[in-house]
Parts: sequence; structure tokens; C-alpha cells
Amino acid sequence: MATATDVDRDRLLRTFLDLVAVDSPTGHEEEIGQVLLNRFQELGCETTRDDIGNIVAVFPGTREGTILVSTHMDTAGTDRGIIPVIGDDGVIRTDGSTILGADDKSGIAGCLELLTLLRANPGWSFPTIEFVVTVGEESGLVGSRHLDVSRLRATHGFVLDTAGAMGSVTYWSPTSVYLTITFHGRKAHAGVEPEKGISAVQAAARAIAAMTLGRIDEETVANIGTVTGGQARNIIPDLVVLEGMARSHDQVKLDRQLDSMRTACEDAARACGATVDFVAEEIYRTYKIEPDARPYREAAAAFRSLGVEVIPRKSGGGTDGNYFNAKGIPCVALPTGMVDEHATSEHIAIDDMVLAARTLVAIVTLPPEGAAAS
Ligand SMILES: [Zn+2]
Repeated sequence: MATATDVDRDRLLRTFLDLVAVDSPTGHEEEIGQVLLNRFQELGCETTRDDIGNIVAVFPGTREGTILVSTHMDTAGTDRGIIPVIGDDGVIRTDGSTILGADDKSGIAGCLELLTLLRANPGWSFPTIEFVVTVGEESGLVGSRHLDVSRLRATHGFVLDTAGAMGSVTYWSPTSVYLTITFHGRKAHAGVEPEKGISAVQAAARAIAAMTLGRIDEETVANIGTVTGGQARNIIPDLVVLEGMARSHDQVKLDRQLDSMRTACEDAARACGATVDFVAEEIYRTYKIEPDARPYREAAAAFRSLGVEVIPRKSGGGTDGNYFNAKGIPCVALPTGMVDEHATSEHIAIDDMVLAARTLVAIVTLPPEGAAAS
């Protein structure tokens, strides 16, 4: 009889620390990719690696059906040489100079622990599992965006890559749009012939002042994060570039916000005699998984089987799950125990990492009827 309590705390911890020891800042996944290919192969998976480095590792099931379990191998930013410190309180932190990389190596460690258990217990009943480990997640979901899912057979899936309380099921994520707004004016000597100039700085300032930013409504946020331009104090600036973003769980509200930002820019440019290029690039698209859909139901059943309360979570950010959902594989995202990801204060409680691994084992090994009936 399969039991999630078979998760071996010491082995899981060792696996996690082994992964953290391999540097993998986003965009530099060659080494971790090779390590993971070897691990998944040793554990009995059929592996493939696509042209940008995404790994798909398939472990054959003992019953019908195929599910997707997704993690990412890159870590945020450029940190290398991470030194994990295990506290007396059972929490793994860093020495304070880098991130930890629990995002998302805690998720990967859970997958490897699951595989170890499945290998050791061929009598367990479980579906075929397609483990997808992406590259470039932290650079804007690059790996999942490019992944060819036509080779996958999964009907639904689970993305092990969120913070938040154990028990949380991320069922609703926003659309995120990156904005690059370029104001073009005309350069002139500000002291000698300012009449000939058109200030791109003034046009940009006027546009920003006219925008509604921050929290727009319950679903929608917008921000201008960087302003770059100008050359010298005595030159009327002919170029300013603004970088920003907008997100919403509601596509109509997002479109309305983007329209109003575009209008603010065009009006300001016109008023100043400048021109503007307003470029909005969708980075990922919203998804919403209903509570009666399979991935939600099975994740919730797994948590309940472990006595963990289910917490529906509407997130302010995206995961690779946004692309799997967009490409036709319904997914929810689940917590790995990570806290403060992307910061030098990032940490993870070993107990939470164990619970996340147990949840994964329960998802895979609970009888399908049991999942459906709960
Ligand atoms: Zn992550």
C-alpha cells in the first residue's frame, strides 16, 4: 500500500543540498541540466532535452493515465556559490550573501524523492508521469514558452513552484504584459538654441503624471519601473525609454488599463511635439482552474489525505503553469515550502519540504476514484 509517509527526510534534504550546490543562475543551466539528466536517467526515466535545454523525463506508470509534474532548474538573478546553513530550528537559510535557490530546487528534490519511492515500490498504483524541468523560468517563463507540448500526453498537471502556505492551490493567475515606451524628441543645445529642441523627458514626465499606476482595482496593477534617457544637463534630450508592466486577472480590465496608458503617452507626446512608440508584450496569459477540474481536485484530495487544509490561492504572478494551461494542459501550481524567494532572506523549513514531497506522493498514488470522490 502506497504511503506518503515513506518520504525519507534525510534523503530529501541531501538531494536538495546536492542541487543547491550546483550553480544555475537563469540563462546558465548547462551544468545543472546535465546533473538532472543523469539523476532522472538513473531513476529509470526516459529523458529528452530540447534545443534550449528543457528536460522532459518520463516515468512509466502502473495504471492508465498520464500527468505532468513541472519544476524549473534555473535560479533567480546571478548568484553563485550558494552556502546553505541549516538552523537549529530546522530551517535552511543562506549565509546572507545570496539567494538559497529553494525556488525551485525544493520542487525538483521532491520529484527525485518521488521517483526513488516509485522505483522502490513497483507494486504501487500510479499513472505515467511526465516530469518537465524548464530553463529560463526566471527570465520570463522562457522554457515553458518555447516547450513543444505536442510530444506530451499528460491530461493535466501540477507545477511545483510557489511560495505560500502548505495547502495552498494556485488556481488563478494573471496575464502579465511588459511595456517598453520610447519617446522621441529633438536634440538641441539648451543654452544656445532651446527653441529648436523638443524634450523627450518633458513628454515622458507628462505621460507618467497622467497615468493611473499602482493598484488599479482588485484584479489589476500597473507600474513604470525604469526611466532612462538624456545625455547632459545642457542638451535637450531627444530620447527617453520607460520600462513598465501591467497585470490583471481580468483580460478586459487589463486591456482597458493598457489603452489608458497608451492614450496618456500619445496625448503627452502630441502636446510636446514629440512622438512615442508604445510596445506591449504579453509575457504570460491568465488561467483559472475551477475547483471541480482534475488538477484542483487531485491536489486538494492529496492535501486532505495528509490532514492539511486546502487554501484556494489567487496569485499576483505567473509560473510555467500559465504556459501549460495556455497550451492545453490544465495545471494548478503548488507550494514547495520556499519562503522569500528571489531574496537573500530566502529560506525553507525542512518540515515543509517534506510535507510538499508527501503531497506529491499522495497526488500520484491516491486512487483516481478517491480523488474524484473527494
Ligand atoms: Zn520559481
